[in-house]
Amino acid sequence: MNLKDYIASIPDYPTKGVIFRDISPLMEDGKAYREATNQIVDYAKEKKIDMIVGPEARGFIIGCPVAYELGIGFAPARKKGKLPRETVEVDYALEYGHATLTIHKDAIKPGQRVLICDDLLATGGTIAATIELVEKLGGIVVGCAFLVELADLKGRDKIKGYDILALMEF
Ligand code: 5GP
Repeated sequence: MNLKDYIASIPDYPTKGVIFRDISPLMEDGKAYREATNQIVDYAKEKKIDMIVGPEARGFIIGCPVAYELGIGFAPARKKGKLPRETVEVDYALEYGHATLTIHKDAIKPGQRVLICDDLLATGGTIAATIELVEKLGGIVVGCAFLVELADLKGRDKIKGYDILALMEF
């Protein structure tokens, strides 16, 4: 099975000149979704992980089935104002403006080994902010797993030194 067959490429979305890589055909196909999940689970098994963290919102779609399969917990990283209890937060730059990502203060215990999951690595801003959140709580980021990496945007350069799994590259 070629997982790339399940990624739709949408020209000029959300703005002119951008090609959006849509993962929803992969999610809608049970076998492809399971295959992608299993590949991340195999990667995670080598790393003795305690917790999965996923940034809103597609990080939940990728991270939760991996956590379920491994029998470990999942903690969401969410936009400011969405989590009901005490949080830590990190500001990060977007193409235009900035955003704040938050995580519950007790989501990760110091020393826990964390795998961060998201659908796609572009400029690396989201994953860098998520790594910072986990580390603020004393967690150890042992890997970052994505379905898709947009190699031209060089997101990897923003998270040098961290182990990265990308199932597909565009
Ligand atoms: P970055 O912060 O690396 O620039 O952007 C990655 C984040 O934006 C991810 O959380 C991802 O969900 C979203 N994103 C950016 N571009 C795309 C895209 O082409 N397709 C999808 N599915 N998500 C994208």
